[in-house]
Amino acid sequence: MTQKKLLAIMAHPDDESFGPGGTFAKYAAEGVDVHLCIATDGAAGSVAEGHEDAREQLADIRAAELVLAVNTLGGTLHRLDYQDSGMSGSPSTEHPAAFVNVDEHEAVGRVVQLIREIRPNTVVTHDSTGGYFHPDHIQCYKITTKAFHLAGDPNAYPEQNLPPFTPERLYYTAFSYRWTRFISMLMRLRGFDPTALGRNKDIDMTKLGVSPKQLHATINYRKYWDVKANASRAHATQGGGTRGGPFGVIPLPIRKLLFSKDTFMRGFPPVKDGFREKDLFA
Ligand SMILES: [Zn+2]
Repeated sequence: MTQKKLLAIMAHPDDESFGPGGTFAKYAAEGVDVHLCIATDGAAGSVAEGHEDAREQLADIRAAELVLAVNTLGGTLHRLDYQDSGMSGSPSTEHPAAFVNVDEHEAVGRVVQLIREIRPNTVVTHDSTGGYFHPDHIQCYKITTKAFHLAGDPNAYPEQNLPPFTPERLYYTAFSYRWTRFISMLMRLRGFDPTALGRNKDIDMTKLGVSPKQLHATINYRKYWDVKANASRAHATQGGGTRGGPFGVIPLPIRKLLFSKDTFMRGFPPVKDGFREKDLFA
């Protein structure tokens, strides 16, 4: 039996761990060849104005954290090394080298090349909302979706000299609005305002999430909870993935029961709302 392969394209160093890290750890432990491609250097989020010269150092620190995290999950790391765009409205979004401003044909081509070289069964990326409307997550969705459909087209990027290849499945990471409402309620109980989160206070938790009917695949990673936790901890400059105030009240065994599931929308082949599966491979 040939080894199954998974390729995930995620926006920032930490999205592979804080996001579906449990799913990646589970598949890697089960013998799947897991490839994790990170699009940006992740250096915009934490650089305060006036400290732009620290950006290069921060990118280096986050690169080292990422290597450790991906090793912990059991994957092979790939990087596109674009510049983190930051959240909408921040000056970093205007930078010509920011991921949101790069030449689309070139960026799609790099993902096409990865797909043709790795030949994965399954491709994973962010959904069209990027989870919380981060421009880099949305850019990842756009570029990966285009690349997924072009990689099998012999007329696309012929200069790559690689045989065309179409993966079997495309999944988008997503979560239910039932979740975000539940978390919003917990936050209010703990005295946090769920409508003004993040550094710019521009993330409204109550508006995030998709209909549970659109969550076609659910992966239970309870056995790999600690692997995900260790990979998240590797991202020390991002807070190590501590789930924040509202979760502290829930005892760990119950947290494991509640939170050890990743949910995905299936992008290809298309399925009807309400479709349910428990595996990302055909
Ligand atoms: Zn991100």
